[in-house]
Amino acid sequence: MSAEIIRGRPVADRILEQTRVDVATLRERGHSVRLVSIEVDENPAVAVYTRNQRRSCEQVGIDFQGEWLPAETTEDELVEILRGHNEDAAVTGIIIQRPLPEHINELRIQAKIHPDKDVEGMNPANLGMMLYGRPNLVPCTALAAIELLASTELDIAGRDAVVVGHSSIVGKPVAFLLLDRFATTTVCHIATQNLRAKTRAADIIIVAVGRPKLISADMIKPGAAVIDIGINRVPAVDDHGQPIHDENGRPKMRIVGDVDYEAAREIAGFITPVPGGVGPVTVAMLMRNTYVAAVGQAQVMSRR
Ligand code: NAP
Repeated sequence: MSAEIIRGRPVADRILEQTRVDVATLRERGHSVRLVSIEVDENPAVAVYTRNQRRSCEQVGIDFQGEWLPAETTEDELVEILRGHNEDAAVTGIIIQRPLPEHINELRIQAKIHPDKDVEGMNPANLGMMLYGRPNLVPCTALAAIELLASTELDIAGRDAVVVGHSSIVGKPVAFLLLDRFATTTVCHIATQNLRAKTRAADIIIVAVGRPKLISADMIKPGAAVIDIGINRVPAVDDHGQPIHDENGRPKMRIVGDVDYEAAREIAGFITPVPGGVGPVTVAMLMRNTYVAAVGQAQVMSRR
């Protein structure tokens, strides 16, 4: 039996529409909702993300303030810019576009964003609240994975879940969100022995590695829910497996996830496509987080 495809667009549209309504209400009460996006150096992939974020902000009524800094910007200069935005009451959310140049310590920078304005949920204070089971602002992709899972109406509590990948921005936060929902959660990584045995036993598989076809169909328990977070650029091929070239003779590329999608969809109960699964919901969650951050700051101001 073929899996039910969990498409990201309808889930994202629902979140964006609710956020649009909520942002309008907050604005009517006289509060600012503004996201500052900081990009250091030029990177075409980052430019695409930033454009999507700007467009989504326009859709839901959030002010988007894009700032671009040259590659030679020092860590101290960036910290100083962040300090200015932290102190500016009109700025309610800050996002640092990754990757940062190597001479800038990402961890230090992340800690310099005020936790109340940290719409990516990467400040140690926000990550710490996840550990306590009282999350405030949570990394957007982790939220997106759980939102897609929840859209299946599958009961997460009591299920065996496997998270493949243990990064601070995706794998670990997803694992904490699953634990909060009472899934029995196993986290796998580069040193995991016999990954197949772990994934085969899971009712829920969430993969965030960045390796095409890491999860093959025979690694999936029949009927399991599979959320594929990975994004990989691979050469496009025709029906005979031959590479396709563009008009300039360059190999055409396409985006795939970490799961062997075509084969896996014949085994899984639910599966997200790549592209069109986690991606759109991640951007929607960024909008939601920006609203949540603005509400938090509005409440602080009204208490003064
Ligand atoms: P990352 O920081 O590179 O983390 C990848 C993780 O995978 C690491 O924990 C790594 O473990 C683990 N890993 C590597 N090889 C493995 C293997 N063979 N078996 C099991 N685990 C393995 O990447 P990330 O930021 O978490 O992102 C992961 C993927 O998600 C990437 O493809 C990224 O593009 C994608 N992504 C998508 C979205 C979206 O919105 N759709 C958002 C963010 C990220 P070690 O650290 O121990 O090596």
